Amino acid sequence: MQITLVSIGKVDAILMDHVKKGLRSRFKIPVLTGSEIRAPSSSFNKFRNQYEADIILNELEKNFDDKVLAITNYDIYTQRLNYIFGLAKTKSKSAIVSIARLDPKFYKQPGDIELLKERLLKECIHEIGHVLGLQHCKEKGCVMNPSNNTRDIDNKNFDFCHMCQISLGS
Ligand SMILES: [Zn+2]
Ligand SMILES: [Zn+2]
Repeated sequence: MQITLVSIGKVDAILMDHVKKGLRSRFKIPVLTGSEIRAPSSSFNKFRNQYEADIILNELEKNFDDKVLAITNYDIYTQRLNYIFGLAKTKSKSAIVSIARLDPKFYKQPGDIELLKERLLKECIHEIGHVLGLQHCKEKGCVMNPSNNTRDIDNKNFDFCHMCQISLGS
């Protein structure tokens, strides 16, 4: 198994590199870097000024044979939710994580690259967990806890709980 990491639009190389190394050490698999890709124009919702994550995922599913994780600065949403940090369908090939609302600056707080890197990696591990078949988990601190806001992200850690680890089969 391997994962290809791509950016949708421009993404800070420091962040891409952090995710690449983080996933590699967490999942012990090769993480390849793909080229920057463009969001399909149909994914942009001008009324919301956001991109619909499902449309982007469908596009990734079509264009990649293997597992792919897309990172973007664009603000993303899915039906019935105002925004999401990331999306993956369980046991699919593709996942997406948005940096937009992980950044303290989004909330008018001082920039904090270390905090941003932490949140981004947690959300990437979470979405890859879905790709590998995991559902949301209620175990305290498990990376598969759902996150509705940045506090939820900050309250969980990078690791899968014991049960999730067993489900992953490792
Ligand atoms: Zn989730
Ligand atoms: Zn768990």
